Amino acid sequence: MIFVLDLDRVNYFLDLNIQSKMRLFSRGPTYCAVCNKEITHKHKPKREWNIKGSLCGNCHVDKSKEYFEAKSRQPCAQCGITKKISDLWEPRWQWDMDGLLCKECFDKKETSHKNEKNFCSVCGSKMGFIRYNPKSKWKMTGQLCRNCWDEQKAKSG
Ligand SMILES: [Zn+2]
Ligand SMILES: [Zn+2]
Ligand SMILES: [Zn+2]
Repeated sequence: MIFVLDLDRVNYFLDLNIQSKMRLFSRGPTYCAVCNKEITHKHKPKREWNIKGSLCGNCHVDKSKEYFEAKSRQPCAQCGITKKISDLWEPRWQWDMDGLLCKECFDKKETSHKNEKNFCSVCGSKMGFIRYNPKSKWKMTGQLCRNCWDEQKAKSG
């Protein structure tokens, strides 16, 4: 009785062994669909990557990054140039804008916004794009409108 049981067990193990060998054999080695390296641990590409087959670990990481970066690109809300989101700037809330801006547009916007907001440091009237820098001997900060500059000039020379 005991002998028979043992033999059964031996047969069972043999079968398993053959089965697993057959399975390995029928599968054959797998190669990465990108770099063609033999893969020990297969990684499934994501459907949206449009890759057939399996990937090695490295390529899987690369592709994930690539796809993530492609997804994380966006056009500048001002000039429409597509950039990485990490290279785009959030507009200031005062500008009342949607979307993101490239560095150039952000800078332009900021300068023009500052200009709009500039007031004469003497009379406080709003200045356009033309403003006057005080002479250094006047010891003044900020910029002046034309009237105040003329007055100051008349006073201090
Ligand atoms: Zn690979
Ligand atoms: Zn731009
Ligand atoms: Zn003024």
